[in-house]
Amino acid sequence: MSDAPDVDELTPPQRTLMGPGPSDVHPRVLRAMSTPLVGHLDPSFIDIMNEVQELLRYTFRTDNQWTIPVSGTGSASMEAAIGNLVEPGDTMLVPTNGYFGGRMKSMAERAGGEVVEVEAPWGEPLDPADVQAAFDEHQPDIFGFVHAETSTGVLQPNVPELTDIAHSHDAYVVADTVTSLGGVEFRADEWDVDVAYSGPQKCLSCPPGASPLTLNDRAMDKVLSREELTRSWYLDLSLLEGYWGDDRSYHHTAPITNVYALREALRLVAEEGIEERWDRHLRVAGALKSGVEAMGLEMNAADDYWLPSLNAVRVPDGADDGEVISYLLEQYDLEIASGLGDLDGDIFRIGCMGHSANPKNVTYLLASLADALDAQGVDVDGDEALDAAAAQLRG
Ligand SMILES: *Cc1c(COP(=O)(O)O)cnc(C)c1O
Repeated sequence: MSDAPDVDELTPPQRTLMGPGPSDVHPRVLRAMSTPLVGHLDPSFIDIMNEVQELLRYTFRTDNQWTIPVSGTGSASMEAAIGNLVEPGDTMLVPTNGYFGGRMKSMAERAGGEVVEVEAPWGEPLDPADVQAAFDEHQPDIFGFVHAETSTGVLQPNVPELTDIAHSHDAYVVADTVTSLGGVEFRADEWDVDVAYSGPQKCLSCPPGASPLTLNDRAMDKVLSREELTRSWYLDLSLLEGYWGDDRSYHHTAPITNVYALREALRLVAEEGIEERWDRHLRVAGALKSGVEAMGLEMNAADDYWLPSLNAVRVPDGADDGEVISYLLEQYDLEIASGLGDLDGDIFRIGCMGHSANPKNVTYLLASLADALDAQGVDVDGDEALDAAAAQLRG
């Protein structure tokens, strides 16, 4: 055997995170993560679980009893939602207008479902008329949509209209709120969404590890009356009910520290007020958008469905997206991301999420981006960008 590896103490770089997630974590959340562990069945942890559930209900705007943090990242809560709701033989309708609709499709297929699609180009939302037509044609049992499409910077408007269409066909609605929860208006109960899942490291500014999920009684009744067991043991909600429901009995060891972190991140949401938090994202990301446009760049999504938490900006002629992104990381310790799939090479993805959605980050981003483009010989106006953002922030 070789000698023990000589590895340096951990000193990660101090980045400013303005990509598609994770976002900058609030110092209070980091502090919560360095508090002592208790056991996952400790009476004090049971209280913490209850508090997290209460705070999650507030953040989702729901009274659903079935509101929990799923162990794992956003994809775990996504798979818990789809894997439990979709039974073999069920048909699920999913969107084609972004990367995460494609992931819904993969998960529904693995759950044994038939998948049908409602089409819209990458960079546009679903049209309710197309959803209606897809329902009339396919009569799906479950309809999934992405409220905030992180791959395209598109916010899905008209959610109540979509849920009405689904419910008039007796279908269940699953919403991906990974990049909207805690940053963009979302109302699970008022909008009649049956199941919504999210992630902690986007607008909640919490490290990844415990991911919000909520189901109403109607959806949970379907899950609890499945004929065939859910294919995942780990994410089986009928088993997780034993831990997060009344019994509080062992299923798997909860990621204690991630639950602490989520509790603190949600406490910050409650202190700020959920509606005030939505307003802050609109205001601060609005300044980012004004700045980017004043610089001479173009947003990818039309204003009507611009997503404040994820700004998709067209890569200008003469710029190489990869070079700009590397320059920002190397010169400024600033993270943004490139496009995915159909938009690969066409857009920058600039997050404005949670704790990262603040005037300091936006100003830093605009000045750094102007410099990065200038360094590539692209003619942009950094001063105009900063003036436009400042004017917007002053209100
Ligand atoms: C990030 C993201 C996910 C997946 O979350 P992970 O934490 O990466 O597993 C799902 N849906 C959307 C819209 C996302 O942005």
